[in-house]
Amino acid sequence: MTVREALREAEGRLTRADVPGAALDAALLLEGLLGLPRLGLFARQGEALDAETLSAYRKWVSRRALREPLQYILGEAAFMGRVFVCRPGVLIPRSDSEAMCARAAGVAARGARVLDLCCGTGCLGLGLKLERPDARVTLSDISPAACALARENARRLDAEAEVVQGDFFAPVAGRVFDLILSNPPYIPADALPGLQPEVGFEPPQALDGGADGLSFYRRLAAEAAAFLSPGGVLLAETGDGQAEDAAQLFGSPFSPPAVRPDLSGNPRFLEIRRAD
Ligand code: GLN
Repeated sequence: MTVREALREAEGRLTRADVPGAALDAALLLEGLLGLPRLGLFARQGEALDAETLSAYRKWVSRRALREPLQYILGEAAFMGRVFVCRPGVLIPRSDSEAMCARAAGVAARGARVLDLCCGTGCLGLGLKLERPDARVTLSDISPAACALARENARRLDAEAEVVQGDFFAPVAGRVFDLILSNPPYIPADALPGLQPEVGFEPPQALDGGADGLSFYRRLAAEAAAFLSPGGVLLAETGDGQAEDAAQLFGSPFSPPAVRPDLSGNPRFLEIRRAD
C-alpha cells in the first residue's frame, strides 16, 4: 500500500469515528511513526509502506478512532515551540496556556524565583526557563507520574529545574517565590463527562476543580500570599466563563486581579500581584 492509500484509508476511518480534523491527524500519525517532520509526507505520496509500518500505523489509527488523544499516541505535544514528552496519567499541554507562559517570561524579574504549582508535564515552568534562563524554577505536583515526566522533560529540554512532589504548596512549605504560575484543575465536576471524548483519557485529578470548578482558586486565594515575596505575582489559568468569579476570590493583600486573554482572545488567566 502506498503512503497516499494508507492516508486515505486512515482518514476514512477517523472521519467515521467523528475525529475532528481527521485528515490532519491521519498525516500527523504517519509522520510521527516514520519520524518525519511536519509535511514530510508531501513528497512521498507514491512510496510503498512496508507491512510492518502499515500494521503499526493501523494500530495507531485504531487508537485515535477510539478518541485517544493524538499526543498520547505520538508521545509528545508542542508547547511554546518546544516538544514536551506526553504520557497517559499526565495532562496534555494546551495552546490555551501559551499566552500565560509568555506573560510569565515578560513579568519575571532578573533571577526570579519561580514556582510552577500543579506542573503536570512541566510545560509552564520549563517553557519559562527556556525563555528566561536566569529564572530559578521549581516545579511541583501531587502526582508522582507528573513529577517523573516533568523531570524527564527538564532533562530532554536541557532546562534546569527543581521538581518536588506533594499536595499543592506542601512541598515548598516555608519558601517564597517572586512568581507563581499555576494551571490547577478547574473543570466543574459535573461538566467532566460532557467534555470531548479525548479528555476522558486524561487524569481526572488534573481536571476536576470541585462542584463549581473553583476549589483550587479558593486554596490559592487563601494560601498563595504566604508563598509570594512582597510585590510578587501569581499567574493562574481559568476555564471558560470562570475568570471573573475566580478574580472575586482574591482580596487583601492582593491588588485586584487583571483578567488576561489566551492566544484566541478568550479570557484565560488571572494576573494578581501581592500589593504590600
Ligand atoms: N484546559 C483544560 C481543558 O479544557 C483543563 C485544564 C485544567 O483543568 N486546568 O480540558
